[in-house]
Amino acid sequence: MAQRKSPGGHREEPMKKHIVGNDIHFRKLIENSYSGITLLDGHLRTIYHSPSAERIAGWDNASQASETIDQLIHRSDQALVKQVLQDVLSNPGLPQTCTFRSRHYQGHYLWLECTYTNMLAEDGVNAIVCNFHDITRQKEAELLLQQTVNELSAYKYALDESAIVAITDQKGIINHVNNNFCRISKYERHELTGQDHRIINSGYHDKAFIRNMWATIANGKVWKGELRNKAKDGTYYWVDTAIVPFLDERGKPYQYVAIRSDITERKLNEEKIAASERFFKAITNNLPAMITYWDTDQRCLFANKKLLDWFGTSADNILGMHKKQLMDAAEYENCEPHIRAVLQGKPQSFYRSFHKGDDETIYTHTQYVPDVQNNLVQGFYSLICDYTEVRKAEMKIAEKNRQIENLLENITDGFIALDNNLCFTYGNKHIEQIFGEQAQNMIGKNIWQLFPDMVGTPTWNAIHEALEEKKYICNEDYFTPLSLWHENRIYPSNEGLSVFIRDITQRREEEKHLRLLESVITNTTDAVLITEVSPLDEPGPGIIYVNNAFTRMTGYTSEEILEKTPRILQGPKTDKQELKRLRNALEKAESCEVTTVNYKKNGEEFWINFSVSPVKDASGQNTHFIAIEKDITQAKNEELQKLKLAEEIAESLKEKNTVLESIGDAFFAVDKNWVVTYWNNMAEKILKTPKEQIVDKNLWDAFSAAIGSESYIRYHEAMRTNKSRHFEDYYLPLDQWFEVSAYPSEHGLSVYFKDITERKKSELQLQILNKNLQDQNEKLKEISWMQSHVIRAPLSRIMGLLTLLQDGDAHEKDLTLTFLVQSANELDDVIRNIVDKIIECEIYRR
Ligand code: FAD
Repeated sequence: MAQRKSPGGHREEPMKKHIVGNDIHFRKLIENSYSGITLLDGHLRTIYHSPSAERIAGWDNASQASETIDQLIHRSDQALVKQVLQDVLSNPGLPQTCTFRSRHYQGHYLWLECTYTNMLAEDGVNAIVCNFHDITRQKEAELLLQQTVNELSAYKYALDESAIVAITDQKGIINHVNNNFCRISKYERHELTGQDHRIINSGYHDKAFIRNMWATIANGKVWKGELRNKAKDGTYYWVDTAIVPFLDERGKPYQYVAIRSDITERKLNEEKIAASERFFKAITNNLPAMITYWDTDQRCLFANKKLLDWFGTSADNILGMHKKQLMDAAEYENCEPHIRAVLQGKPQSFYRSFHKGDDETIYTHTQYVPDVQNNLVQGFYSLICDYTEVRKAEMKIAEKNRQIENLLENITDGFIALDNNLCFTYGNKHIEQIFGEQAQNMIGKNIWQLFPDMVGTPTWNAIHEALEEKKYICNEDYFTPLSLWHENRIYPSNEGLSVFIRDITQRREEEKHLRLLESVITNTTDAVLITEVSPLDEPGPGIIYVNNAFTRMTGYTSEEILEKTPRILQGPKTDKQELKRLRNALEKAESCEVTTVNYKKNGEEFWINFSVSPVKDASGQNTHFIAIEKDITQAKNEELQKLKLAEEIAESLKEKNTVLESIGDAFFAVDKNWVVTYWNNMAEKILKTPKEQIVDKNLWDAFSAAIGSESYIRYHEAMRTNKSRHFEDYYLPLDQWFEVSAYPSEHGLSVYFKDITERKKSELQLQILNKNLQDQNEKLKEISWMQSHVIRAPLSRIMGLLTLLQDGDAHEKDLTLTFLVQSANELDDVIRNIVDKIIECEIYRR
């Protein structure tokens, strides 16, 4: 910018006189002057140009003459110069100085410092003298300086505005802080000035850190670092700091300028990021899943600890690795479609097994999640969850479910599961049998929709109570539409209800039947006593039931006998052998019938017959003994009497036997059932069957060959008609004939028989002889007949021929002789025939 200086003409006055006084000298002076000198006329036209002026401005006199001031002076300076020249014109003799830019002959501008003096009125000069020198360099330096100062102040301003600035001496004593410092440290300026930075020391950095800082700056080097400081109010702030040492001429720092920027937020963010990184790392490293991140080139950018452990590698190894390098070719081939898809932004989820070596396999669920930013896939996350344990557990659960289902299908009860809305979720096959409805048709349906007839029944109440009060309930109910008694065991759970349903129709029937039986037992005339199964040793099994008949028989009431043992009924005359037999049977849980003497409550003896049987439960376990007892005193007495009678009969029979044995006939007796009751010695002999084999046996079992025989028919007749029978019979197996007499009685049949085989044989021979005789007679009759008829014919012919022989000629006689011979031969044949017949008769006779 052109400048105008205030006039200082008092020192130039003697010089001017000197110049004027010495023209030559003046001229030389001008011509050799360092400054340029130009003379202008009153119209401001150049009238003279000193050589130095020409040297400085490039214009010679001629060329400059054609240039006006407007053309020479920089447009920006023209106004100033014109003003100065006005002033010069108006103030003759008063030098006016100004600086402006003037165009060099070559076209560029020069900074000229010009001093104009109006000497138009001066004789010998008559011009405005312009003395100028080139201050372009100085001006440029000034401009540069100004520019630098401007820039510096701009920087300072910018620094003050943007940075936190403190200036200390070489000892660190603060002698300047800017507003930002005050603002961030919350100290007033005066509180800081004269202090060192310990005032804001937060204690965060260790001594070595500070020592390093000091060592750096004390050596004249810039220290850069991040510091955590403490503000006046105790809060902390972070500053990114550069401490610049200012060095003296000896290279020693004489002050330090600390320029800081507030990085608290960044630091907090970094801390947050670090914390979240730590958090993320802790999570990813502790996650059971294997996590990796792959860029679009399938290079690994992240892998968590789980994955590194599984592959036995380190982060350094795996980062940058291609996915192909992590798996074998086959695995990669399987994964490739998923990789391609996820890189197109499509999330992938699939199951695969992972193999390590030959023997380690895990089952995984793998997810590829695309990392999409600005609609571009940047890579993808691979999340691999090892669900081997889950799968094993699933398999176990499935197995358990199968087992449970199997169990539920095989239990004898029906089973249904209902959800909290009482809709069927499961029904086993027995339920189908009970309700006649396919389980799968019931699934999802509400129980009351399926069985509306049950609404309001005890079962309906039980189910609602179990569901609402979450408690186990067991009930029995009758379902009329199916004529079904059922027992329900209802178990509540979080999911709803589990109900076991048992068809107890039969049990109910049995109970009914049992009640009937109980009443029968109670009211039967036989005494009934039920005991526990043990102890068989002292004091014996406890009695748990006796019926009315027992009370009548023994005199003991139920109250008196319950919890006692049957031994209470025993006494001196009780048969020890029988008791022993009973004990053996009970030990083996077998039935046993015993007859012995027992004692009533009043001590009276009585004969008792009882059969004890074990009572077994459904599993075959012996739970009780039941005894059906009878007072058989009367029968026993009768039996004893009968025994006596039998003994007497036996005695008499003995005598009878002697008789029966002594008779020559065979004898046996059978009862009404054809059981042989007696068999004497002769019978043994004749029928070749010893007594031991036949007595007490059925006659027809022993002699089955005789069934249907004459004897069989006659014995039955005798038994049926109660009339004796006498007959003869041939018994083929023994080739014997018997003469038999069968006598029926009230007990059966007594049979006497004797062997008549010899007699029968003689009779037969006689019959044969008679027959032969008859045959002989017949033959003889035949002979007589032949004599009378057959012989007569040839004989009469012979007689006739003999008559002819007496009377006839020779020829006739020859002919007659021929006939005679013929007739004689015929007669010979007849006689021979008779002889044969006679011989035959002879044979017959013999
Ligand atoms: P000090 O005893 O002060 O210093 C620890 C070690 O540093 C000493 O053992 C010694 O080896 C070295 N040391 C200390 N003073 C000097 C010294 N004058 N000449 C050479 N070595 C020395 N501190 C901050 O906590 N926050 C800041 O923002 C901060 N800005 C600073 C800016 C400037 C321009 C300077 C010069 C220092 C700055 N300090 C700053 C450092 C501060 O002056 C303390 O040194 C620092 O706070 C540690 O204090 P102290 O009492 O724990 O340890």
